[in-house]
Amino acid sequence: MRTKIVAGNWKMNINRDEAMQLVNDISAEIQNHDINGNRVMVFPPFLSIQGAQDASGRDSRVEVGAQNMHQAESGAYTGEVSAKMLLNAHVTKVILGHSERREYFHETDELLQQKVDAALKNGLEVVFCFGEKLDERHLGNHFTVVEKQLRKALFHLSKEDWKKIILAYEPVWAIGTGMTATPEQAQEMHAFIRKTISDNYSEALAEGVSILYGGSVKPSNAVEIFGKPDVDGGLIGGASLNAQDFAAIIKAM
Ligand code: PEP
Repeated sequence: MRTKIVAGNWKMNINRDEAMQLVNDISAEIQNHDINGNRVMVFPPFLSIQGAQDASGRDSRVEVGAQNMHQAESGAYTGEVSAKMLLNAHVTKVILGHSERREYFHETDELLQQKVDAALKNGLEVVFCFGEKLDERHLGNHFTVVEKQLRKALFHLSKEDWKKIILAYEPVWAIGTGMTATPEQAQEMHAFIRKTISDNYSEALAEGVSILYGGSVKPSNAVEIFGKPDVDGGLIGGASLNAQDFAAIIKAM
């Protein structure tokens, strides 16, 4: 049985005080819900991480991670944060490869490989995001694009390293647009991803990797999407900013 995960990417929303409140509200909403060995995560902006941690201390089921980190250990990189700094702040997981980082901050597959390596070297868990753009899907290139993204950033890793990798397939055309992939489109791609990992490593490894779907997941579509056999939960943007919506998505897991 793979671990199912519902993770909230807050992006540049929710200040430190609001973070405490939001995590308290999420905890209250899922108080009587058995998450059954599965996992709930939130990824606040850096400055709001401690607020979320302070609140989640009361409900350790809500794990707190970071949305980004720099690949270097330390140095003259104004405005950046390293893996070691995250660990020192008791942050043990990080999102890497989000399409907004790729698009607005020009993060390439090569850079992401370095970031993944730095995160794993420091023992962090990585939620690795990837996915095709709309024109790539229209051209029928979505499988090739996804395979390339995975190969360049992750396929140099050892089997041991993969224990720290959570995948998040996020078709760029579905992020923040309200345009969700159909459950069938998500399943088709997730099965392809698992097969690609199996071909490059082993079936046992591929069967153990949690693959989340991200892109306009809402309470109204979560049950159907999460019901697909290769979809192991979701990375949630907009709907993770509302405790009731996020809790409903957690309950759909
Ligand atoms: C995301 O940013 O990872 C995301 C999935 O956003 P949304 O749910 O708002 O589409």
